[in-house]
Amino acid sequence: MFKKIIVPVDIGQLDKGEKILRKAMELVDDGGVILLLNVAEDIPGYMTIELPADFIEASIREAVDRLKALNDKTGATAQIHTRVGSPAREILAVAEEQAADLVIIASHRPDFSNYLLGSTADRVVRHAKCSVLVDR
Ligand code: ADP
Repeated sequence: MFKKIIVPVDIGQLDKGEKILRKAMELVDDGGVILLLNVAEDIPGYMTIELPADFIEASIREAVDRLKALNDKTGATAQIHTRVGSPAREILAVAEEQAADLVIIASHRPDFSNYLLGSTADRVVRHAKCSVLVDR
């Protein structure tokens, strides 16, 4: 049904990541591509002095390890991508660069269940040029 699906995973919400990855595995065409994406949020300059010099690099390494573990657990053979910056902006940029035909995103954190959409999901739904599936 879809040739290229972007699955953005917040590594603080891996259970949701697994759920949307499994959904992508059901929806992707034979021979299609799933791309697991984590965005390490950029640290404002005034905070960097408090953090180890390789904080961002370490976050990216941890994200890659966790996304590889998700691939192993689910049997997906998804490509793994990481970016640094604002999650919504980077998810939208990767979707365009990769000419994805679907983004599958979780709606929000479970403890914020009174909100219909979290801020990242909301921006992706409003601005994506491809279809977006919001998993509730
Ligand atoms: P909340 O504010 O409740 O966390 P968000 O809209 O920020 O809700 O997150 C919803 C979904 O957006 C996540 O489950 C994930 O699919 C995606 N997402 C959020 N942050 C990131 C991130 N840093 N990297 C990749 N995907 C993300």
